[in-house]
Amino acid sequence: MSDLAALLDEIAERARRQPERGRVASYIPELAGVDPARFAMSVATADGQVHSTGDADVPFSIQSISKVFALALALGRLGDQLWDRVGREPSGFAFNSILQLEHEKGVPRNPFINAGALVVTDAVLGRHPPREYLGELLRFVRAAAGDDAIHINESVARSELATGHINVALAHYLLAHGNLTNAPELVLGAYFHQCAIEMTTAQLARAGRFLIGAEGMPRLVSPERVRRINALMMTCGHYDASGDFAFRTGLPGKSGVGGGILVIAPGRAAIAVWSPGLTDQGNSKLGTEAVERLAKATGWSVFG
Ligand code: GLN
Repeated sequence: MSDLAALLDEIAERARRQPERGRVASYIPELAGVDPARFAMSVATADGQVHSTGDADVPFSIQSISKVFALALALGRLGDQLWDRVGREPSGFAFNSILQLEHEKGVPRNPFINAGALVVTDAVLGRHPPREYLGELLRFVRAAAGDDAIHINESVARSELATGHINVALAHYLLAHGNLTNAPELVLGAYFHQCAIEMTTAQLARAGRFLIGAEGMPRLVSPERVRRINALMMTCGHYDASGDFAFRTGLPGKSGVGGGILVIAPGRAAIAVWSPGLTDQGNSKLGTEAVERLAKATGWSVFG
């Protein structure tokens, strides 16, 4: 498997030389100061190995990648009832679109846009205090990664609490349409904290192994749910650039505005990449290019 290690180094080297890196998210002030020159990539393969390159020991804010873990938890707790409150179609709109939510009368298109993720967090919160939910989510992520050091960055959470006005608007809009059962402040607090989970790419790749669907990998959800979560990542994981990501990589992936992407090569590997510069749609620019390169070189694709 040293081929894979060499390939990762080659991809990182190419990324290092790229002058056009996209723009670091600045609407969450705490993220604005992240160095755009950072780059890391890790691959956890189904045979139990983890290969990394670049800044793979530097933690970053996983942001919307947390929606994958929250969804897995919510499905475990509520099962298919969840689909009464949130759809499973690609959005074709920005991740924080208010327009679309209004159009669809408070039922978000999918669990990976912000409105959908707020509904998922509300559903899994149930009547429990946010602290309990966050504890459970962290336990899930730590069990998936096999790493108890994974934590929430309180400053990032607070930074978004102070500036996340669009999410506040979305939560209130959901409430107005009867699609929020808890007070908006509770749901938003829980959501901002879940987004503020920090991981290195090595930890994130390991945390993604439960979605590989191979023997010997952590079994945190049923095989049927693994398939469905992967399907949603493929169709909705990159918002209005989901089609482009699928076209370029042939693999399901979920991005976050911290510049991370979690990608699954079913039966083979979980891949985590981090490059903080984003495209206009809020997805990691060089991260996407790196996954495209890896998929091409390995032949990993759900489409054969
Ligand atoms: N916390 C971010 C937000 O709600 C997550 C968005 C993202 O990563 N795409 O705006």
